[in-house]
Parts: sequence; C-alpha cells; structure tokens
Amino acid sequence: MQISVWEKESFFAPADVIILGSGLVGLWCAWHLKKANPRTRITILDRGIIPTGASTRNAGFACFGSVTELIADRDKSGEDRMLQLVDMRFRGLQRTRKILGEKAIGFQWSKGYELIAHHNDPGQTCLQEHIDWLNEKLAPIVGSSPTYKFASKKIKQFGFSNTNHLIENKFEGHLHSGMLCQQLLQRVQALGVTVLNATTVTHFEKGPEGVKLHANIPTPYGQQDISFHTQQLLICTNAFARDLLPQLDIVPARGQIIVTAPINNLRFKGSFHYDEGFYYFRDLGDRILLGGARNKAFEEETTTDMDISNTIQHELESFLKTILIPDQPFTITDRWSGIMGMGSEKMPIIEELSSGVFCAVRMSGMGVALSALVGEEVANKMQG
Ligand SMILES: Cc1cc2nc3c(=O)[nH]c(=O)nc-3n(C[C@H](O)[C@H](O)[C@H](O)COP(=O)(O)OP(=O)(O)OC[C@H]3O[C@@H](n4cnc5c(N)ncnc54)[C@H](O)[C@@H]3O)c2cc1C
Repeated sequence: MQISVWEKESFFAPADVIILGSGLVGLWCAWHLKKANPRTRITILDRGIIPTGASTRNAGFACFGSVTELIADRDKSGEDRMLQLVDMRFRGLQRTRKILGEKAIGFQWSKGYELIAHHNDPGQTCLQEHIDWLNEKLAPIVGSSPTYKFASKKIKQFGFSNTNHLIENKFEGHLHSGMLCQQLLQRVQALGVTVLNATTVTHFEKGPEGVKLHANIPTPYGQQDISFHTQQLLICTNAFARDLLPQLDIVPARGQIIVTAPINNLRFKGSFHYDEGFYYFRDLGDRILLGGARNKAFEEETTTDMDISNTIQHELESFLKTILIPDQPFTITDRWSGIMGMGSEKMPIIEELSSGVFCAVRMSGMGVALSALVGEEVANKMQG
C-alpha cells in the first residue's frame, strides 16, 4: 500500500521529536515538551492499540514506599539514593494530582499501610527504630508531621489473619490507572501531539538529517514497513528498552494481579504493602485487587511475556485465604499481568545516549509516582 501525499504531510510528517512508548513516561514527556514549547512537532509511536506495558496494567497505588521496602533500598543502594527516589515519587504524585486533577484520575486519599506477618516480623523494637529513622529523614520531603506510625489496633477491624503489626502512612492513596492514562493521552492530543498506535519500531539510525526510524504498521493487506524522520528521538519503552538499546541495565519483571468479585462487608480500605513491597493489595470498591509475589519465582517472572502463571496465581490466592479474608469464600473475576523495567538499581535511566537520542526508562515498581517528574527532567535535558 502506498502512502498518500496527504498522509506524508500530516500523520507521517517529519517531527521535531518522536517519542517511543505511550505509557505514562512517554505521555508526560510529551506534555512537558509541549508546555515548554507549544510549536514543537511531536509524534508518539506505540506498538499497542493502547499503551501495552505497565501503565494501564498496574495496581494504581499512589505510593512512595513502605518501611521495610525503604529500609531494604537504603541497605542496598545507600541512604542518599533511597531518599532521592522517595523525593521524586512524592513530588511526582503531587504534580500529577495538581495538573490532572484528583477527580479526573480517580484519586482517593485512602492511606497506605504495611502488614507485618508472624513469619517475617523483625520485632516491635526494630520496626519502631526504622519508623523513627525514616520519619526524621522523610520530614524535609513530606513536611514536618511523621509519615509512618503503628496502627496495629486496626488489624482486627480489617480482619487480617497471621498479622503481627500494621504501619500506617497517611500520605499515600490510590487512583484509577486507566483514567490516569486516558486523561493524560487526551491532554497531550489536545496540545497537538500526534499519537500513532499499532506501530512497532524495529530499529533506528542516525544521519545528517536527524534520526530515521524503521517501523511496521498494520494495513488491510498485512504488515507493512514504514519509516519516520525526526530531529530528536526519545525512547520510553521501559521494560522493552533493550530491544532497541541492548547496552542498558534493564531487566523485565512481570507483575501479576488478581481481582475478586464483590466481597460481603469488605472490612478494609486503603493501599497495602507487604514483604518489602513484593505483595500489594487494595480495595477496589467492594472488591480486592491483589498483586505481586514475584519473589516466589524470580526467574520465571523475568520475562516480557504478558501472561499469567500457575505458580504466582496460586500464591496470590493462598495469600487471600491465609491472611486477607481467611473466613470468607471468594471468586476471582479478573487476572492479568504487566511488565516492569528493573535493573541493578531502582533509579530511572534518564540520559542522552548520543547526540539527539534520549531515553527515560527503568521505572521499577513505582512509575505512576515517578513519571510526571521524569517527564519534566527529560524535557529539560532535550531542550538543553
Ligand atoms: C503489575 C504491576 C503493578 C504495578 N503497580 C504500580 C503501582 O501501584 N504504583 C506505581 O507507581 N507503579 C506501579 N507499577 C509500575 C508502573 O506501572 C510503571 O513503572 C510505569 O507504568 C512505567 O511506565 P512507562 O511509560 O515507563 O512504561 P510502559 O507503561 O510499560 O510503556 C512502554 C510502552 O512502550 C511500548 N513499546 C515497547 N516497545 C516498543 C516498540 N519497539 N515500538 C513501539 N512501542 C513500543 C509498549 O507498547 C508500551 O506501551 C506497577 C507495574 C506492574 C507491572
């Protein structure tokens, strides 16, 4: 199928910036670039019919980290790195709510909690030390009042079993990931950004005229090759970035989720973390959304295959039965997975890789929180 002159001069016209990936990071980058310079011609290419990675397939937590996760991050990457990430997540969430509006993204101040079970309890004294240390270190980020406090008396009210402690974080909440992505997509389109879906970029090369991208698109007669030209290329393909940039320190990490049918008198509300953030659950109205357990099968879950597995699905159901709703029958209505971009550390990679080619990838498990700020940082970098 040939491309018409009209198509060449509109949908497929040379751009100032082409962004690969229409997940949260790609969309926020486009938003910031357009806000800084409304005349910039931006095209976003995504291989999915909708964003198909993590942004519409996550748990919708508006969070910045539980006590055990932040302490583990500190021990692994150092205090400064851990605090820098918390700061980015906290400010990123503030920015998201302010720009898009809480209602438009289904945001709720539901509070965050961390469950400490019998078998991984480091003891009240140790937890208290960690809480005190974190409250002091996080004060310059969140404001003066303490972030974390024990809320163990709610364990009974929430109906959890095999649980020793509950820690509350009043600065966390949850949102609707579909509404968030759709709202942002509509905002960038309203600013004049062209978004082309079902367009898979296979490789790119640099030349005197800028960057040439090779892609394929579906036509009524089958797949067809097509090329795009741009002055600057920004790669926001997160977990899939190594397809185009094999040198990057990124590994895919699949996250699986289940959702129950409505539970009679569901006793808890909020966003809950467990086991250094490897498990997460929240209320979805009167249903439960539960995800994680990747640490039960690390190797199996190091994949870009967007499927579900028996090992993890079984583990999640067992968690529901033994800890969350021990006395209640439940039915699972929805199961899915999404792919996160991880690496040897959690800090995102925001770089100019070569003249005119940039990337903003490796959002780890909290890209909802990070993306607004990452978008701003990369937009600043691209504008010199
Ligand atoms: C199960 C799960 C639960 C999570 N829960 C939370 C949470 O509660 N809170 C939180 O803050 N974060 C959470 N996250 C993490 C968060 O969703 C991600 O960090 C964030 O969405 C990453 O956004 P992104 O735009 O970088 O990547 P993605 O959303 O993955 O977008 C990348 C895009 O690139 C496209 N693409 C890839 N290759 C190509 C190519 N060659 N050509 C064209 N397009 C391409 C894909 O189709 C995709 O749309 C979770 C993630 C998962 C998987």
